[in-house]
Amino acid sequence: MGLKVCEIFTSIQGESSYAGLLCFFIRLTGCNLRCTYCDTDYAYYDGNILLIDELVEMVRVSNVDLVEITGGEPLLQEETPTLIERLINEGKTVLIETNGSLSIEHINEYAVIIMDIKTPSSGMTYKMNFNNIAHLKPKDEIKFVISDEMDYLWVKNIISSYELYGKYKLLLSPAYGVLHPEKLANWIIRDKLNVRMNLQLHKYIYGDNIKGV
Ligand code: SF4
Repeated sequence: MGLKVCEIFTSIQGESSYAGLLCFFIRLTGCNLRCTYCDTDYAYYDGNILLIDELVEMVRVSNVDLVEITGGEPLLQEETPTLIERLINEGKTVLIETNGSLSIEHINEYAVIIMDIKTPSSGMTYKMNFNNIAHLKPKDEIKFVISDEMDYLWVKNIISSYELYGKYKLLLSPAYGVLHPEKLANWIIRDKLNVRMNLQLHKYIYGDNIKGV
């Protein structure tokens, strides 16, 4: 047993309210979705099996306080909840970046969930598990990747239908290379939408198509 791991690296967190912080990333292999704008398709299959003990030891020696478990879709693997628990017991702040299609109900309450809700342009909205919203905690974050104004208007509607304001951190990100950030900024300002606009910081630092950043 163990986890199939696509890559492990230390970088700058780029896609949440933790953006800018030093972060140890564990990218797990496998994804059950196929978003139109996916930039991590190399994580669908590539990877090696590592034991939880090995992963915990790597985190321990890294001396980095913030750990993100991402993918692919990290909740696909059976042992992910155990890894989360072990890292929390190590005193780490653990972020779980999940695509919103799988249940988050049994994830350790001390982990921070960063949950996507896939917008129409992703082609994956129909796979979303909207019951997850009931299991989010106040410190959790919901991320929407936006490709066009139709996505943006859809997101506004979701925020109001599910009464998300003030309950969770709401992150709106322009799809990199698809929607210019200025457009999204102007829509948010026009509508006085109380959300956090989020840029994929690591891409502005390193460019796109680079693994391990
Ligand atoms: S959920 Fe993430 S990894 Fe999976 S297809 Fe969508 S963008 Fe790619």
